[in-house]
Amino acid sequence: MTETSSSATPSSPDRLPRRVRHDLRFRKLQVQTVQRLTPHLIRITLGGDELAGFTSPGFDDHAKLFFPDTATGRLTVPTVGPEGPVWPAGPKPTMRDYTPRRHDPVAGTLEIDFALHDAGPATQWAEAARPGDVVGVGGPRGSFLIPTAFDWHLLIGDDTALPAIYRRLAELPPGARAVVLAEVDSEADEIAFDTKASLSLRWVHRHGAEPGAGTALLDALRQLALPQGDFHAWVACESVAAKSIRAHLVAERGAHPKWVKASGYWRRGAIATHDTHED
Ligand SMILES: Cc1cc2nc3c(=O)[nH]c(=O)nc-3n(C[C@H](O)[C@H](O)[C@H](O)COP(=O)(O)OP(=O)(O)OC[C@H]3O[C@@H](n4cnc5c(N)ncnc54)[C@H](O)[C@@H]3O)c2cc1C
Repeated sequence: MTETSSSATPSSPDRLPRRVRHDLRFRKLQVQTVQRLTPHLIRITLGGDELAGFTSPGFDDHAKLFFPDTATGRLTVPTVGPEGPVWPAGPKPTMRDYTPRRHDPVAGTLEIDFALHDAGPATQWAEAARPGDVVGVGGPRGSFLIPTAFDWHLLIGDDTALPAIYRRLAELPPGARAVVLAEVDSEADEIAFDTKASLSLRWVHRHGAEPGAGTALLDALRQLALPQGDFHAWVACESVAAKSIRAHLVAERGAHPKWVKASGYWRRGAIATHDTHED
């Protein structure tokens, strides 16, 4: 059990998250490079004139990616009207949520890391992507800025959460303390993080087991001794797993419910889901 030692509360100014809205934009961007980082992770760097004005200040922002029709190769993206997106007549494209892993406005590039799994149009697109291919990018529509002034930070996630975990670790200031629990298939799927924070990193391996089928992250968390002090917990993985991890943190590890942000970045057996787990 972790004791909460400071007197900060969720309404303390330095613990209050901030929501920021962004002007909605839909862009058509071109693939510049494709890098196979690990057996289950492909980094695609996008660029193009339409990237101008892109903004993503929140570490767990997401953009909606729109994929070309696999039969015709045609890419449809909406325009923005007073009420929101305006779609041209005809079928809408396949859309999936991805984290802007790194945006470099000077180089004019946007990196997206795709976790590869057995089947899904986004994964298939990433595996086949070549320089010059076009993809649509909508948003981010908004950002949720979580303060860094906690005694320490807990970040838990699977392959799909690695881009957001990377961003959070990169933005934490010197003196911050982070504990990361990350699930990937094997040692070969581990990636390096760059941080000024003091980092305790624990990898959990599936060893070929089906992603999202077991309780590997929760089991590893149960074994983990957590530091003292107030902490923010961020969790993103398969939805049922994220929900059970949140419940464990609140019921058994002294996490303040308002300081736990748990999301299902995907759900077993369902396509294109984004679940937010709250009380
Ligand atoms: C806010 C947010 C940010 C995200 N950021 C990223 C990111 O930066 N990088 C990233 O790789 N993913 C990210 N995801 C997850 C990604 O959107 C989903 O994994 C998405 O479903 C993949 O689309 P798909 O077309 O490949 O599969 P879908 O067509 O959506 O699903 C097909 C089948 O595969 C299963 N499935 C989906 N994802 C996975 C998975 N990861 N492992 C195993 N089985 C899966 C589904 O349950 C379904 O049965 C994010 C999701 C959210 C909500």
